Amino acid sequence: MSPAVEVVPLAAGECLNLAALTERGGRWRVRRYPAGFALLRHPEHGAVLFDTGYGEGVLSAMRRWPGLLYGLVTPVRLEVGQTAREQLAARGIPADEVRSIIVSHLHADHVGALRDFPAARFVIDPAAYPPLRSLKGLRAVRRAFLPELLPADFEERCGALTFSPAPPGLLPFPEAADVFGDGGAYALRVPGHAPGMIALVVRTCPGANLDGDGSGLTLLASDAAWSVRALRQNLTVHPIARLAFWDVAQEARSRAALHAWLLAHPRTRVIVSHERPEEAHAGHRAG
Ligand SMILES: [Zn+2]
Repeated sequence: MSPAVEVVPLAAGECLNLAALTERGGRWRVRRYPAGFALLRHPEHGAVLFDTGYGEGVLSAMRRWPGLLYGLVTPVRLEVGQTAREQLAARGIPADEVRSIIVSHLHADHVGALRDFPAARFVIDPAAYPPLRSLKGLRAVRRAFLPELLPADFEERCGALTFSPAPPGLLPFPEAADVFGDGGAYALRVPGHAPGMIALVVRTCPGANLDGDGSGLTLLASDAAWSVRALRQNLTVHPIARLAFWDVAQEARSRAALHAWLLAHPRTRVIVSHERPEEAHAGHRAG
């Protein structure tokens, strides 16, 4: 039986954005969006992170050009005690106990604290980094990518996810990567918002059935949508916000696939990075 992996949704800092950009029909007012990440507790692998949220490196990058521009477009707040490292320490988990960080994609609000975890290797879709590797200065910032956030040995510490035909319960995704090799968590390719973006389906109850209604499963959807409602209803964002997508057509396909999977697994707990998470036992929200 596949083991249960506990998912603890957390956030490290927040950014400001216009509600009207994040959701069609939203109001033209500034809202605060948490920079979510998650602590996964695996019975054998211990503490594993899914992204890191913002970190102190983001604040220093934003004090000088071209990171300054990132801060103008996406004002960031990060209070003392809010970084992933500090929050894990408060839970009794020292940074060097974190051996793996699953990186959903390389935007600054997801990798802002990679440097704080010196013992971690980075589990990532092999398609995530190559298109960004050569981007510098303004061209990088335009992609919400701040190269200085990556540790100097980033590439050596990356372990590429290997995708193989997905279990039928993950259709319409043809392929998935069994992250721990025990069925505890599957990575799904959801590129478009950023190159090589992944989502994670986690078994939070032992032996939870991928072919069932989603009970006992948690979907960490990263930035596939700004809200769970948008994902469940397949709502699009404002056309201006689409300008920030890496690949608009890919994004629509990825969102449609997640939407279809959620229709078939309505009781899945869904967590998107920039919204306060649904309660663990709230059941599904159909509407
Ligand atoms: Zn992003």
